[in-house]
Amino acid sequence: MTFDQLGLIDPILLALQEEGYSTPTPIQAQAIPSLLEGRDLLGCAQTGTGKTAAFAIPILQQLEKVRKENPGSFQHRNRKDIKALILTPTRELAIQIEDSFKAYGRHLSLQHLVVFGGVSQHAQTEGLKRGVDVLVATPGRLLDLINQGFINLGHIQFFVLDEADRMLDMGFVHDVKKVIAKLPRQRQSLFFSATMPPEIVGLANSILQNPVKVEVTPVSSTAETVDQMVFLVDKVDKKSLLNHVLKDKSIQRALVFTRTKHGADKVVRDLEKTGVRAAAIHGNKSQNARQKALSDFKASQIRILVATDIAARGIDVDDLSHVINFELPNIPETYVHRIGRTGRAGASGRAISFCDEEEKEFLRDIQKLIGRKVPIQSEHPYPLENQEVEKPQRQGAPAKKASAPGVKTVPPSSSNRTDKAKSWFRGRKPSV
Ligand code: AMP
Repeated sequence: MTFDQLGLIDPILLALQEEGYSTPTPIQAQAIPSLLEGRDLLGCAQTGTGKTAAFAIPILQQLEKVRKENPGSFQHRNRKDIKALILTPTRELAIQIEDSFKAYGRHLSLQHLVVFGGVSQHAQTEGLKRGVDVLVATPGRLLDLINQGFINLGHIQFFVLDEADRMLDMGFVHDVKKVIAKLPRQRQSLFFSATMPPEIVGLANSILQNPVKVEVTPVSSTAETVDQMVFLVDKVDKKSLLNHVLKDKSIQRALVFTRTKHGADKVVRDLEKTGVRAAAIHGNKSQNARQKALSDFKASQIRILVATDIAARGIDVDDLSHVINFELPNIPETYVHRIGRTGRAGASGRAISFCDEEEKEFLRDIQKLIGRKVPIQSEHPYPLENQEVEKPQRQGAPAKKASAPGVKTVPPSSSNRTDKAKSWFRGRKPSV
């Protein structure tokens, strides 16, 4: 399958060629033809699958078609009508989505703008006054600008709700519903979520009409291209182990995950003491500091980017070869999201996890979810005394059957994992 076979127009084909894309990813191949026909879409896909291009390309192509057929609708008064709205939970994702629209639409004369909170609105309102065809927004700032009269959603023809599960998790669901209430009924709607818990399915049903359903890389199937390993190590030795691991010069850049903002800052301080250039990206950092850290990382000015889960959501860095879990997440799905930052679009990647005694429970949950054992790397200077991950067998209890590698073991619905995942969705305030 090539992009030519998807019926794309020349200016977009050229832009894709310039981006170095030769073949569509599975979600692109599945979604683009239906979207070009005007169908609604329900996409179960996480970042790293190429989903941004899967929605950006058909929206650009359809907008260009309307512009060519009816140039008047893009001029004068109507010039200010926003025609496509992409709603996404985080500032980083919003910026990356707009970058994608810019890249794929570089040979079209459509106007894009991104709006998000945490920064002055002046540049955003000036951009809106000049006229915008495609608006990428986070929910809070969007509503704010609507309430101030800078944005009118009455002419939206294309609506994308991106990372819907994350919206729910971050407590944005009411804002999202308020936005949807302002959209015209006649529109094409696209809905993306990495997971489909019942709340999300309900939200999707309220937005979509007879959607095409596309599902790629379900959250439990870790990208085949990611090579995973775990180091069992005492909590106090993790700092030294990280230095040890980073002696490997083949790790040119790595994204390191911590559970808390405080933990992220501490890892950066410790790394800098040993001469490793690092920066942290989390919700306590200003928008400028986050952007600078990300661009320095992309430009290889810093070797290590330390991030919390929410801040890292959607970080899109080409050629990210290593993800290091300095701490394991207590939600196994988060592990899959984290390691999905590497091994993107077919590239190979490596995920290294540090696991202390207390985190063995999280590792067991992760292994259950991904249906395989993460190989233990015991050749290192700080091994945990007890290298066993499984719980010790009770005296007299029958031996547990080991599951074959690659075979998914579905945990019983009453398991800890499921309970934790549920309570996470319901009430947990994310640590940004
Ligand atoms: P996304 O899932 O939209 O965040 O995309 C993940 C990464 O894959 C981004 O770095 C894209 O630039 C890249 N990508 C998307 N589509 C393709 C493609 N067809 N070929 C190569 N890379 C792609």
